[in-house]
Amino acid sequence: MATATLTIDLDAIVANWRALDRLSGPEVQTAAVVKADAYGLGITRIARKLAQAGARRFFVAYAEEGAAIRQALGQGPQIAVLSGHMSGDTEMIHDLDLTPMLNSLDQITRHLEALPGHPFGVQLDTGMNRLGVELLEWQAVAPILIEAGPELLISHLACADEPDHPLNEAQLKTFHTMTDGTGLPRSLAATGGILLGPRYHFDLTRPGIGLFGGLPHETAHPAVTLSLPVIQTREVAPGETVGYGCTWVAESPAIIATVAGGYADGLPRTLSNIATLWDGDTPCPLVGRVSMDLITVDITHLPEVPRSLDILGPHQTVDALAEAGGTIGYEILTSLGPRHLRRYQERSQ
Ligand SMILES: *Cc1c(COP(=O)(O)O)cnc(C)c1O
Repeated sequence: MATATLTIDLDAIVANWRALDRLSGPEVQTAAVVKADAYGLGITRIARKLAQAGARRFFVAYAEEGAAIRQALGQGPQIAVLSGHMSGDTEMIHDLDLTPMLNSLDQITRHLEALPGHPFGVQLDTGMNRLGVELLEWQAVAPILIEAGPELLISHLACADEPDHPLNEAQLKTFHTMTDGTGLPRSLAATGGILLGPRYHFDLTRPGIGLFGGLPHETAHPAVTLSLPVIQTREVAPGETVGYGCTWVAESPAIIATVAGGYADGLPRTLSNIATLWDGDTPCPLVGRVSMDLITVDITHLPEVPRSLDILGPHQTVDALAEAGGTIGYEILTSLGPRHLRRYQERSQ
């Protein structure tokens, strides 16, 4: 079989959630952000596992993503929708009991008119200028809206992965200005915000990437291994080239393994001639260009041809691979795509 195997360690994800929950402090609830199919790793299995571990609130980007977790978890856990209440979402929000985080006056009006009494939260823009109600609008609508009983006020930090960035303090200050005295539950911190310390935690934290082993959660357990099967090997003589564009030339006799996995599987073409794959503890350089379905690797130094080579695993985290490819761990994870065979690993049910 030429399908790559993506092994997802559910126990590591639970351990990462617990670690971030401990960092969030005893008075603070820790949610789980599972948008984009739980960062590409499979929302159903992961939401179920985190719910068993004690997570009571889940965040998704779109209402449609909420459907999958509601089905997996049944009634009970809160499912919050970051994109808010879009036109066309009303039925789904109602039927699946989703909690939209309303982002604008339009959304607020839509929600209160379409589903009066249905739970909602409000996302406030404190300086990221992406989603959320802005300060002046908020000051105008807050008195009425607070009457309607939002479950949560949230905002999102733009630079939380840079602890010294002045925007962190500025956003914190604006969040206080917008929410102090409301008496409502508040949430500002994603993974990076949790690590900025208790002043950023408020009542609820919302980690995503840190659950899945990515930076800035430096002490996270790696949660994924991606093993690419070796399809064929060949000897190349000095002067021969490998792959599209002849970008790699053998300087001495070499053995090249062609492995399954390419940019259509979320392995960016920018890894061409740069990345490393691993046979157990032995590094093997990727040579030539990454193509759509295949990668070529120099295995001349290995004692025998391995069945597969790892591109993600204990020796190469998502962030290490991301750095090699000029991107971020978030993008590597969410790009992995549907072609890999997924194996979920857990010690306990
Ligand atoms: C994606 C997202 C999160 C989670 O962020 P991480 O950096 O992955 O922890 C939290 N809140 C909002 C609004 C988001 O968009």
